[in-house]
Amino acid sequence: MIPKRLDLANLPTKIQASRYLSSIDENINVYIKRDDYSGIEVSGNKIRKLEFAVKEAFDQGCDALITCGATQSNHARATAAVAAKLGLKSYLILRGNENDSIDGNYLLDKLFGANIIFVTAKEYEDRETIMNKLVQNLKSEDINGYIIPEGASNGIGTFGYYHAFEEIIRQEKEIGIEFDAIVCAVGSGGTYGGLFLANLVNKSNKKIYGINVSKDKEHFVNCIDKHLKDANEYLGANITYGLEDIMILDGYVGQGYGISTKKEIDFIKEVAKRDGIIFDPVYTGKSAYGLVNEIKKGTFKNIKNILFIHTGGLLGLIPKREEFGF
Ligand SMILES: *Cc1c(COP(=O)(O)O)cnc(C)c1O
Repeated sequence: MIPKRLDLANLPTKIQASRYLSSIDENINVYIKRDDYSGIEVSGNKIRKLEFAVKEAFDQGCDALITCGATQSNHARATAAVAAKLGLKSYLILRGNENDSIDGNYLLDKLFGANIIFVTAKEYEDRETIMNKLVQNLKSEDINGYIIPEGASNGIGTFGYYHAFEEIIRQEKEIGIEFDAIVCAVGSGGTYGGLFLANLVNKSNKKIYGINVSKDKEHFVNCIDKHLKDANEYLGANITYGLEDIMILDGYVGQGYGISTKKEIDFIKEVAKRDGIIFDPVYTGKSAYGLVNEIKKGTFKNIKNILFIHTGGLLGLIPKREEFGF
C-alpha cells in the first residue's frame, strides 16, 4: 500500500516548455517540471519526500525531527521549515562549522529555530551514529526524536516522487503531451527511486534517467536499488527489474560535489538569460548541463518529449554569488 502523506507542498507544480533546452535538437522538446515552486520555505524536491516521512513521524508520536546535511543543505532547511510549521523541534547535524556565513539555507535554518550541531567532514561519515546518539540523549529530556536520513532518501522518502510521477501522468492528460523520458539530478537517489518505482508499478514504460552530481554510477545504482527494496516493504508490489534498468548518466560531476566549473556557471547564466529560469550550481545546473550534452551526444535519439525535474536549490545559489563573477 502507498503510505499516507501530509499535505505540505504546493502541488501540483507546473510543467513548462523550455525554449532554450528545446533548441538544442530540433527533434526533441524539453519540458521542465517546476518543483522549485513547491513552496517558498519548503521549496524543492525534499518537501515531497518529507510529506511522507513526517506523516510517519507523526504516527509514531514524535516531537522532534532529526536530520543531516551540509551547511547549505536544501534538505536540512526544508526539514527545519516543516518542523516549525508543525510545532515540532528540529535538530540538524551539519557538515560545516560555526564560521560558515549565515546565508541562504543556513540563514533560514536559524530563522526556523533549528537546533544546529556542526560536525567535521570526518565526523559526518558517522552521521547515523551521531543521530542515533542524539535520539537517546533526547529521550532523557522526554523528547521523542524521529531520524530522517540524508536527503530523506530511504524507503518512506521514495514515495515523494512516486506520488510526483502519478501527478505527472495526470498532467500529461490535461496538457495532451506524453513524456517519453524523465530526467532528474541524483544526489542521494530518492527522487530517482520514486520516479523509477512508480514507472514500474504503473507500467508506464517511460525512460527514467538520473544524472549524478557526486560519486559515480555504481554507487548510485546500488543505493537506488536499496531505496527501491525498502520502499517496496511498504508497497508490497510484485516488482522485477535489473540493476541495468537503473539508468544513471555518469560524467557530469565535474570538479566534485558542490564545486562548479566555468562551463557549468556559464550554462546557468545562459539558461537564466534565455529562459528566465534559475538552475542551482550544486544539482540542477550540473544535471541540466549533463542533459544538454547527452542530447548533443544522441542519447535521446528516438525520444520526442523529455521532462526535466527542476528540483530547486535557489537558496544554495545565493551564498555562491562570487562564483558568477559579476
Ligand atoms: C537533494 C537535491 C537533489 C537530489 O535529489 P536526491 O533525491 O537526493 O537524489 C536535487 N536537487 C536539489 C536542489 C536538491 O536539493
